[in-house]
Amino acid sequence: MSGSVSETGAMRDAQPRVLRVEDEAAIRGAVTTALIQAGYLPRAEADGTKLRAVAEAFRPDLAILDIMLPGPDGLCLARMLRDRIDLPILFLTARGGVDDRLAGFAAGADDYLVKPCTPRRPAGRSPSVSVTTTTRRR
Ligand code: CA
Repeated sequence: MSGSVSETGAMRDAQPRVLRVEDEAAIRGAVTTALIQAGYLPRAEADGTKLRAVAEAFRPDLAILDIMLPGPDGLCLARMLRDRIDLPILFLTARGGVDDRLAGFAAGADDYLVKPCTPRRPAGRSPSVSVTTTTRRR
């Protein structure tokens, strides 16, 4: 008996597809690892310049967007995705101000999570960002 689903690859299509845009490589890698461990099929982009084509090819079930990005910002990308695909959009951003949150929801976000200022902040400080901090190995 094997609990592994990676042997056949048959389960891949059943995995929720998560499209991430994050320009900070360390965060991008940590979140990608956490998503894989949680059973998602993530795809990470460092910026949104090719996001339209990527979204059409990857067909994500969920998008998680940073806001401060080189090229088009996350708000811009959210509006672009909203116009084309019906999917939940989350912002995961360092911008935690009320106006920033309102702008995020106005751009079509379903949720708005604020990143810790440093990756070393303990996971318990903010449950909403636990996805970024669950890569700790035990
Ligand atoms: Ca950023």
